[in-house]
Amino acid sequence: MGFEPTKEYAQSLDAADGLSRFRESFHIPKHTDGSESIYLCGNSLGLQPKKAAQFVQDELKDWADLGVKGHFDKTFPWTRYHEFLTEPMAEVVGAKPHEVVVMNTLTPNLHFMMVSFYKPSGKRRKIIMEADAFPSDTYAVDSQIKWHGGNPKEDIILWQPRPESNTLEIEDLQTIFQQHGDEIALVMIASINYYTGQFFDLKKITELGHSHGAMVGFDCAHGAGNVDLDLHNSGADFAVWCTYKYMNSGPGSIAGCFVHERHADNNTLDRMAGWWGHNKEERFLMDPKFDAIYGAEGWQQSNAPILSMAPIRASMDLFMEAGFQNLLAKSKDLTNYLEFLVHNIEGDHIKIITPKNPKDRGCQLSLAVKNADKSLFEAISNKGVIADWREPDVIRVAPTPLYNSYMDCWNFVQILSSEM
Ligand SMILES: *Cc1c(COP(=O)(O)O)cnc(C)c1O
Repeated sequence: MGFEPTKEYAQSLDAADGLSRFRESFHIPKHTDGSESIYLCGNSLGLQPKKAAQFVQDELKDWADLGVKGHFDKTFPWTRYHEFLTEPMAEVVGAKPHEVVVMNTLTPNLHFMMVSFYKPSGKRRKIIMEADAFPSDTYAVDSQIKWHGGNPKEDIILWQPRPESNTLEIEDLQTIFQQHGDEIALVMIASINYYTGQFFDLKKITELGHSHGAMVGFDCAHGAGNVDLDLHNSGADFAVWCTYKYMNSGPGSIAGCFVHERHADNNTLDRMAGWWGHNKEERFLMDPKFDAIYGAEGWQQSNAPILSMAPIRASMDLFMEAGFQNLLAKSKDLTNYLEFLVHNIEGDHIKIITPKNPKDRGCQLSLAVKNADKSLFEAISNKGVIADWREPDVIRVAPTPLYNSYMDCWNFVQILSSEM
């Protein structure tokens, strides 16, 4: 890698960065002194693309000017609005367009997917999750098990880290399958663990699950827009993600859902149906018999919330303009550089718990702080760093390739080391 720790070197990396111009396409929050914050929190809420406001305004204007006719008579008619998000979204998550739909929000999508893909029967009732999963996923899995009459204490198996480690080993998942293979109904794991930043091998996990007769789904909240998920080739049965983290589409924005094409016209799966999932040609004939659209769109329920989808279009435009593979390449370099700078800090106050191998992580680094000293986080926040603190002892920082610079990393580490 051959990085250097100087400020001049950081500036030279920015000067050589072919994607640096995209920073201008975003609103960067200001620190109290009026300077730009060092925003390293795209893992929690991505920044606002400047053109998002215009895209929302356009829809408000069409509503004012066209009323109900806006459903059909315009460039981006509301009845089809979600379709304009499908191709770029499919490209970013590595899926075929008919495997992807933008609908609802994340946790509801996870529930709807489990309605279709968690079918406990006989001995096969258990769900494997990763230890320290995001709480919403645990609540969702817990409540699904209860709803099926099961007991979460018995029916959830946690894939645990080894003693003294934070990250998970695939061999331990294999062991779980060797011991419980015929009891596992579903594997429901994040693509990237929100706390450690570990990126799991989706393909290996899926092969393992399928070879033991289990369904496999991933919560890609921290993966979508951040790493190469390659969902189709992973073979996963389903995946869900939100668009407000690395996809920069606004607080609580509408989420994404993947259903592998092998299930595209599987009418034997249970689903919570609604009219938006019904055959488009006949949707307005109001036939009481449900006829699902081929592919992920068949899982839609309601007509789409246009005002929340407009910023997703703005964001996807930027992803396509920059090129997702280019973003991934910059992301790796930017994170390697940040890691280099953090390792250069003297003392043992901070330890990176995210995997060292770039293929096992996205852009987030999780910095465990000695003695769980939260005052360090507060001190850097007062100096204009926007990152986040996760209990018990981690500062998460995520330099994203669309709007973060090498100088952001450099400035962050300057502040961090001076506040220790
Ligand atoms: C961010 C995140 C969520 C949040 O769920 P919402 O339904 O969007 O509020 C859930 N699960 C994971 C893994 C997350 O990272």
